[in-house]
Amino acid sequence: MTITNIQYIRRKHIPLHSYKNNYDQNSNKLCLNCNKPVLGRRSDAKYCSNDCSWDFYVKNNWRLLRIKIMRRDKFTCQQCGDKRNRIKVNERSRRNFQVDHKIPVFKGGKQLEESNLWTLCIKCHLAKTRSELRERSYTKNNK
Ligand SMILES: [Zn+2]
Ligand SMILES: [Zn+2]
Repeated sequence: MTITNIQYIRRKHIPLHSYKNNYDQNSNKLCLNCNKPVLGRRSDAKYCSNDCSWDFYVKNNWRLLRIKIMRRDKFTCQQCGDKRNRIKVNERSRRNFQVDHKIPVFKGGKQLEESNLWTLCIKCHLAKTRSELRERSYTKNNK
């Protein structure tokens, strides 16, 4: 993959057509999502199946992924259990929750991995971010 995490952070959303497929030694095209050869599909296919296509699309679209995670967590803060806005599921109430990386990216946490993402209320998210920033500058200063 030619696109780095750094670019991902800067641009937030990378158009999917800018991803290029890799090829194996037998010049089989490899699925962008699972890296298995793309067989028996249209010559311009980038994925081995429609499932992989959708999976890749969701994983690479932060906005969609966020909503998916918030749905999974039932719009409930996973730290303090706050679910004040659970019933009002419109764009405005969603903003009271934020999707956070359990293991922060700077500590090696996966950026787009569902298992590393959870829903937090703004209060918990702010507190967590603050302590992480403190930790981060601490490790930086002591290197
Ligand atoms: Zn695949
Ligand atoms: Zn909370």
